[in-house]
Amino acid sequence: MIPAQFDYEVAGSVDEAIGLLAEGGADAKLLAGGHSLLPLMKLRFAAPSLLVDIGKIADLRGVQTGGDSFTIGAATRHADLQERDDMGLIATAAKQIADQQVRNRGTIGGSLANGDAAADLPGVLLALEGSVVVRGADGERVIEAADLFQGYLTTAVAPGEVLTEVRIPALTDYGYGYEKFNRRSEDWAMVGVCALVKATDGVCEDVRIGLTHMASTPLRASAAEDALRGKPLTEENIEAAAALAAQGTSPLGDLNATPEYKSHLARVLTKRALTTASAA
Ligand SMILES: Cc1cc2nc3c(=O)[nH]c(=O)nc-3n(C[C@H](O)[C@H](O)[C@H](O)COP(=O)(O)OP(=O)(O)OC[C@H]3O[C@@H](n4cnc5c(N)ncnc54)[C@H](O)[C@@H]3O)c2cc1C
Repeated sequence: MIPAQFDYEVAGSVDEAIGLLAEGGADAKLLAGGHSLLPLMKLRFAAPSLLVDIGKIADLRGVQTGGDSFTIGAATRHADLQERDDMGLIATAAKQIADQQVRNRGTIGGSLANGDAAADLPGVLLALEGSVVVRGADGERVIEAADLFQGYLTTAVAPGEVLTEVRIPALTDYGYGYEKFNRRSEDWAMVGVCALVKATDGVCEDVRIGLTHMASTPLRASAAEDALRGKPLTEENIEAAAALAAQGTSPLGDLNATPEYKSHLARVLTKRALTTASAA
């Protein structure tokens, strides 16, 4: 439980962090809340030679509201998001991350850059069709959520780049629901499902469903979405769509659940999340 030896630098700005990462080479890593990286280091699954702490860069914290969108600084903590009544789905999901101690330290940028298959916010970003901004020695680029998550703990954020902000649409005309199944309330998701539904006169105009822990990356439940779009939001139609939620997924079995049980959970939780989102 003791990490390998490492150097530690505090960055005063994003540019300084990029410079320190470049000097540190391939084994340098950013440190934000530390609640994913430090456990890995203590278990010696990660042994960076240099940690560049970005937790004190004020520019990386806070939420800016632009009417129909939000821009969230990468070092904004889950605890800050969970209090935002105006941020709907993302606030609801943030509230369900672990316990208050973890939420007081963990950041949205750390969660999205880390790309853990069981994490709550990646599936939410995917369903919201948000994006992230990353900056490196070669400048800035925007990565759409659909391109961000590439494999287990692998994202499109390159070594040497800093994820600086997260952009999400407000989607005020969508109802939303978030369902997470775990053994204890503060655990990681065995399976998680978020749903966004836009309805006109009781008919589903648009629907987006994000699945957590149903593959090595978050996924959209596309077959279920296609089945519900354009249909009246009746219990039968929601149930029929939810029955397709596990199509195209490849959940891994683990200590908590077999792939079959995870598929069952995806169907049940999708029905619940769609029902909540449709009632809003
Ligand atoms: C007991 C426990 C329970 C947890 N349960 C849950 C849960 O139920 N749901 C959930 O979603 N999460 C859970 N987490 C994880 C928690 O949400 C983490 O805080 C989060 O995943 C990572 O954020 P962080 O700021 O701590 O990142 P760090 O641990 O500091 O960093 C994680 C990785 O991302 C990189 N990184 C960090 N910030 C940036 C950036 N701005 N740009 C580029 N790379 C960056 C780091 O170099 C590192 O590789 C849990 C953690 C613990 C310890």
